[in-house]
Amino acid sequence: MTDYKARKEQLIDHYRRRGYVKDEKAFDAFLQVPREKFIPEKMSSSAYLDHPLPLMNTGQTISAPHMTIMILDYLELAPGQRILEIGAGSGYQAALIAAIVAADEAPGHVYSIEIVPKLVEFARKNLTQAGFNQAVTVIEGDGTLGYEEEAPYDRVILTAAGPTVPPPLIKQLRVNGTLVMPIGRPGLWQQMNRYRKVSDTEIVEERLSSVAFVPLRGKYGV
Ligand code: SAH
Repeated sequence: MTDYKARKEQLIDHYRRRGYVKDEKAFDAFLQVPREKFIPEKMSSSAYLDHPLPLMNTGQTISAPHMTIMILDYLELAPGQRILEIGAGSGYQAALIAAIVAADEAPGHVYSIEIVPKLVEFARKNLTQAGFNQAVTVIEGDGTLGYEEEAPYDRVILTAAGPTVPPPLIKQLRVNGTLVMPIGRPGLWQQMNRYRKVSDTEIVEERLSSVAFVPLRGKYGV
């Protein structure tokens, strides 16, 4: 039996010294969510290596632990928030977010859209096994169109990189909410940006970091 807790604590120690993450809630979420339950069983010994892992044979990846934790920071999460994620993949990022927004029975919820049917099933199975199926709903479809049924959202996160922010996602964001997205072409580094909707007609852009994500597909993708 691998000592996952010790590995997690080593990583947290490293991130803390590097100043990667400011919000301690992000570390609590990382400790709480079993990453090993979101990857194929034969790779579980790699669960806490700090690099991305393949998502079955779909060509998609589950981001490295440091990236998933930095995303929690970028989102400025709080219990009770309603979140829309584009790209459920394994469901791991959605579970981390849920660990904060739905902590201690807070009424927060994560809606996560996935375009690859096989990954929809994979994410649902993983979330159920890890105990997050009440706090996360996985929806099959093109996430660039958003999910009007449950809008507006406090936060929107895209875990795939596209050329521009899909307009439906801005529309479904509530005023004062933020959207975090890697902007750029696939195969190169992209720019992680945060967009704050300050009014129905005004968006303020903030640059966060350089990142590498898989391409965003769909109507407003690449
Ligand atoms: N957040 C995931 C990692 C996502 S990798 C995790 O924690 O494991 C990016 C994912 O985005 C892939 O699963 C890919 O299939 C999905 N994707 C790409 N374009 C999409 C779109 N338009 N709508 C929904 N999902 C999309």
